[in-house]
Amino acid sequence: MTSYSDCVFCRIINREIPSDIIFEDEQLLAIADIDPAAPVHLLIIPRDHISSLNGVDIANQNLLGHIQIISARLAQEKGVAVSGYRLVCNNGNDGGQTVLHLHYHLLGGRELRWPPG
Ligand code: 5GP
Ligand code: ZN
Repeated sequence: MTSYSDCVFCRIINREIPSDIIFEDEQLLAIADIDPAAPVHLLIIPRDHISSLNGVDIANQNLLGHIQIISARLAQEKGVAVSGYRLVCNNGNDGGQTVLHLHYHLLGGRELRWPPG
């Protein structure tokens, strides 16, 4: 499993940086975002360092499905499954990606605007 010492999410996964871990299993971590953009704002982060969706291939299809299934479960547990929520994956500069380790934002608990800015 690839891990980088200069990657903030790899360091969180390796417990070198503290975080509020909501869920973890052999494939991923879900943590509370440090700067929440909504009442519920989790980050679903694969343990393996993949820089973005540009770095995935067919070998990752189980992981990508797993992320969505766990996200739906977390939305249920956080009480936003009925009110609604958004699962977002920012990729690259125009996508607004700031941490170059693949992750998904689970946002809910307020009405979210569309289209995003
Ligand atoms: P991006 O802009 O790359 O899609 O999202 C990165 C997210 O990671 C941002 O929402 C930011 O608040 C969050 N983040 C950055 N550094 C940390 C950290 O050290 N801990 C936690 N919990 N979240 C972080
Ligand atoms: Zn990383």
